[in-house]
Amino acid sequence: MSTNAEFFERSCRVIPGGVNSSIRAFKAVGGTPYIVERAEGPYVWDVEGRRYIDLVQSYGAIILGHAHPAITAAVTAAAANGTSYGAPTPGEMLLAEAMTERVDSCDMVRLMNSGTEATSTAVRLARGYTGRDLLVIFHGNFHGATDALLAAGGSGVATLGLPGTAGVPASAVADTMVVPYNAVPRLDEQVAAVIVEPVAANMGVVAPAPGFLQGLRYECDRVGALLVFDEVITGFRLGSGGAQAMYGVSPDLTTFGKVIGGGLPIGSVGGRREIMETLSPLGPVFHAGTLAGNPLATAAGRAALGELNDDVYVELSARAGRLSALLGDACAAAGIAAHFPVVGTLVGMYFGNGAAPTNFVEAKTTDERVYRTFFHAMLSEGVALAPGAYEALFVGLAHTDDVLDAIGEAAGRAAAATAAQLG
Ligand SMILES: *Cc1c(COP(=O)(O)O)cnc(C)c1O
Repeated sequence: MSTNAEFFERSCRVIPGGVNSSIRAFKAVGGTPYIVERAEGPYVWDVEGRRYIDLVQSYGAIILGHAHPAITAAVTAAAANGTSYGAPTPGEMLLAEAMTERVDSCDMVRLMNSGTEATSTAVRLARGYTGRDLLVIFHGNFHGATDALLAAGGSGVATLGLPGTAGVPASAVADTMVVPYNAVPRLDEQVAAVIVEPVAANMGVVAPAPGFLQGLRYECDRVGALLVFDEVITGFRLGSGGAQAMYGVSPDLTTFGKVIGGGLPIGSVGGRREIMETLSPLGPVFHAGTLAGNPLATAAGRAALGELNDDVYVELSARAGRLSALLGDACAAAGIAAHFPVVGTLVGMYFGNGAAPTNFVEAKTTDERVYRTFFHAMLSEGVALAPGAYEALFVGLAHTDDVLDAIGEAAGRAAAATAAQLG
């Protein structure tokens, strides 16, 4: 057993599609996924020994670079003391303190195991706290595999109650309204919560339009609904205070994941004390988890946050800007129409003649055929982008100038090859 194809075929016999998260199967770009054996810094190596500069970075869970010594040491030390107890720990308290110190809107946080669990808990908490059922979400925003949030969006119009996937009954999304991103909907007093990615990072990267987040805050206050920011990607990635600090809008609840686990499984809901204290055991809204507050995940998360500060975020923003410019120049030189929008430390991709997208209908006009071709050309050049046209590019502490230079050179050749192939 030595090739990617052999491993993938064997996995496909015992794991549906050979993957444990759909996008990894390369359905959107075609071909066989590379099977990762190990990773270090900006690089991953596949089972064939090929090295790739990695811009996936576990879809944003990794910010220090792979196998960062601070994380490895923290996890190793924690593991030696046991991997899970089913009792409170000092480590979970310390991570909760580190998070609440950095995020103004969070007096308290509850820790759990994934972003999906965080959003489903936020939904239950918002409904339990307000005594209302209706949720408002935005077309093209992604909140994980939470039934109530897997509703299908219409094209630029508000839609109610259409399941976004098989297996979600109409009843699970009967109280979920999907509205266009970057337009403030008019709410009424049936709304429990508005749930939004304050910077959309699952439809390429789309910044909130000026006034959008403020408008949501205003509408929620007007009708007594909770404003929930899904900062699973943006939390501790855009800056210590997340998107809410960057845009100066304070949500009632925030969901976290990815960076706060340092690459281990984690999720969290945070918010005002009075709302958070409606969670069990203090209040009537149930939440529990066998591995919630896991000692390895909280140790890794604390180690990650310990390496991050304002100077680091300034540096990461500069690198994001540089990555965008390098990719933009490479495509321009090859005559490929593209945008690589930058919001803080996040970079998105859009292939097409139009302006950079401001909502999902516009984002969907990206030329997926160009992306597929460019993706494979970059992979051949030893640079791994996410195998889907709507994912963000993640730069971290390991993407130094040398690494960015190498990405730029690869992109120049890949863009030329893409243009040649597409004619
Ligand atoms: C990744 C993501 C989630 C889901 O987190 P998981 O840990 O994959 O369950 C939720 N919301 C947003 C914005 C995400 O990017």
